[in-house]
Amino acid sequence: MANTSYREIKDSLTQLYLDDPRPWLVGFSGGKDSTLLASLIFDAVQSVPAEQRKKPVTVLCTDTRVEIPAIADMVEGTLSRMRKFSRQNDLNIEAHLLKPPPEQSFWVNLIGRGYPPPNRTFRWCTQRMKIDPVNTFVKQRMGHWGEAILHLGARRAESSTRAQTMADRETRGGLCRHPDLPRVWVSNPIQFLTTEEVWAYLLQRANPWGGDSRALYKLYANASNGECPIQIDTSTPACGNSRFGCWTCTVVEKDKASEGLLAAGDDRMEHLLEFRQTLLDFRDPANGWRDDRRMNGNEGAGPLLIKGRRELLKRLLTLQEETGLELISPEELLLIQQMWKAARDPDDGRGVARIVNKQRGVIMTTDLKELNRLREIEEEVASEKGINADILRRMLAKVEEFSESHRAHGLPDDLLNILKDDLFQGMLVKEPVA
Ligand code: SF4
Repeated sequence: MANTSYREIKDSLTQLYLDDPRPWLVGFSGGKDSTLLASLIFDAVQSVPAEQRKKPVTVLCTDTRVEIPAIADMVEGTLSRMRKFSRQNDLNIEAHLLKPPPEQSFWVNLIGRGYPPPNRTFRWCTQRMKIDPVNTFVKQRMGHWGEAILHLGARRAESSTRAQTMADRETRGGLCRHPDLPRVWVSNPIQFLTTEEVWAYLLQRANPWGGDSRALYKLYANASNGECPIQIDTSTPACGNSRFGCWTCTVVEKDKASEGLLAAGDDRMEHLLEFRQTLLDFRDPANGWRDDRRMNGNEGAGPLLIKGRRELLKRLLTLQEETGLELISPEELLLIQQMWKAARDPDDGRGVARIVNKQRGVIMTTDLKELNRLREIEEEVASEKGINADILRRMLAKVEEFSESHRAHGLPDDLLNILKDDLFQGMLVKEPVA
């Protein structure tokens, strides 16, 4: 029965390859379902005569920059074997590892903007770190292509919500419209396979690109249920309920994957798990790290206070030394510095450098003379206009932050929120100097 299913899936993929001219995209997370999907796609493409392999096929994988290290290594290895195999066999299959830009990284959002560690109701991470990088890549490619087909390894047996979402989507010729990318059609070739059938296939055969799936099976054996599928929209179940998620994930109660890897001897996970616990502590408003006003000024648990962001940065740099992993980049540090200048209770523009220099014993350069001169000018303008200098600085920093990322969307709202803070604090506007 299962063998018939695999054969049918492969045959219908081959047929689609030959009959439909649209380029293919393949979502790949490194988990069992997308490994099976990629395997079937490689086999299908290879079964087509070489002179007919004209269709561009692109395997897409996301790396949030906070992936569990052992899994990130495994995925990178697989992608590079896929590339090599495709080159050697003229398959015309590319493999890309997509990462969020530094301004949308986990640390810049958490420590820079002060977003609380994500939970089920405020899961800000998936869109920014997984969905947007894919959408951006696909939109760039769509400039050359009229339409494309995106193959995903989603299966109905994963959960009843998943089954319902898949059943509800508008379909045409077995393909359903992508919720955000109108010219992309989604195909779910393995949707009716059971988990047992997926493993049976993977464990009985070598992968087309070489190697087998035993290491993958061992990773799964260290935890239970679910995987972080490649995310195409926020209606997909939380990738937090997975073993292929971020080691920082606070959406799940327990990080079974990290715990499993630690039990299997990956000592780095001990420190990473401790830091995850720190994130949970900082998220809890009772522990005093959160503002008691939201970003929009309304009452309620708000962003991390600047003292909380400083403390997290210190602990992150310590963690970096303990694990020997490069967890945060110099570019992210600069962005965080920029954002602290626009925060409530703003930083003087040197806070990050102070922490980095103290932790690492190296000098992170900031032009002090220039900074002091800038502060004097800001004081003068603020006093001339009769406004609070901190508020002026925060607004300037906010404009700078947006102009560095070459975007304006959201800027008026952010400026308005800063002004609301000023009103709230009752610090606003002395009488303008005549
Ligand atoms: S694994 Fe968790 S932290 Fe990472 S993107 Fe998914 S929900 Fe967010």
